[in-house]
Amino acid sequence: MDRDELIARLATRISDERVVAAVASVPRELFVPAELQAAAYNDGPLRIGHGQTISQPTIVARMCELLELRPTDRVLDVGTGSGYHAAVLSRLCEHVWGVELEEQLALRAARSLHAAGIDNVTVLAGDGAAGLPEHAPYDAINVAATASGEIPPALEQQLALNGRLIAPVDDDGGEHLVHIRRLAGGWERTSLDAVRFVPLR
Ligand code: SAH
Repeated sequence: MDRDELIARLATRISDERVVAAVASVPRELFVPAELQAAAYNDGPLRIGHGQTISQPTIVARMCELLELRPTDRVLDVGTGSGYHAAVLSRLCEHVWGVELEEQLALRAARSLHAAGIDNVTVLAGDGAAGLPEHAPYDAINVAATASGEIPPALEQQLALNGRLIAPVDDDGGEHLVHIRRLAGGWERTSLDAVRFVPLR
């Protein structure tokens, strides 16, 4: 698949045109290892080293759509990996803080984002399960690694009022996306699509 084919495919699956435009504007080849360049626009995950993967474009787009981002939003990205998902998020909001456990991946993600000309993403190495309290609250939180049983409570706590969180969770219902919205009275949870991500450690 090439870039045009990927975007055409996304346009049939994703109804928010801003999200499709955001994916179209990010050169995915900059986030993919040299030996996998030919597959850069395949609609699938790819190995990025350290046992981790760059997420599938359709899933990235779907998660961005579910976050209902506005240009003024401040976003936390947990499990930044290659930086690709953060790059797409960055086109739809004001600023993204990305947290990645593997220091080497965090460094590479920062370089790839710079090469893509993206200057509204800050990548930090660390444990994203604790969130990033320094810059909380967030209008949206994106989690790209599967939590076992439940989403770390620290992340829900760092959502602004009306903030949205999307995360893969593995529980009695199998591995699937969970959408959370913080309301004045508490957190509204919705279970969504079945997915496969690497584990949140
Ligand atoms: N969003 C990434 C997908 C990366 S895969 C992309 O578009 O490329 C998930 C990433 O989560 C992996 O890089 C893994 O190292 C990272 N990860 C796992 N547990 C984590 C944790 N507790 N804190 C931060 N990152 C974590």
